[in-house]
Amino acid sequence: MATKTLASCIFCKIIKGEIPSLKLLETDLSYAFLDIGPLSKGHALVIPKYHAEKLHQLPDEHLTDILPIAKRIAIAQGVENYNILQNNGRIAHQVVDHVHFHVIPKPSNTDKEG
Ligand code: 5GP
Ligand code: ZN
Repeated sequence: MATKTLASCIFCKIIKGEIPSLKLLETDLSYAFLDIGPLSKGHALVIPKYHAEKLHQLPDEHLTDILPIAKRIAIAQGVENYNILQNNGRIAHQVVDHVHFHVIPKPSNTDKEG
């Protein structure tokens, strides 16, 4: 398993525990935690546990690890409506240069509170 991290990267610091995060779950390859600036309650991020900037730099086998995690988070959020977002590059609105998938619940009037 690749474990290379980048000292200046905020998400690498989260992986190493140098910056605190609210962990949801993790596997050997991936780490999921709550977004610090949530667009909705439960907004989560799923990242590789090593530094890679963009999606195309991840090996295919890692993609098959990450998507089931996003699915599990969406199920755990208990909402029927949600977005999975993934930005690559500044023009595409990537702010943190460490690959991440957003899981963003879109609560409806019929979804349970809390
Ligand atoms: P991007 O625009 O790069 O796709 O999204 C980056 C996301 O990372 C944003 O939603 C932002 O709130 C989140 N974020 C940035 N810094 C931190 C941090 O230190 N901790 C956590 N939990 N989320 C962060
Ligand atoms: Zn990183």
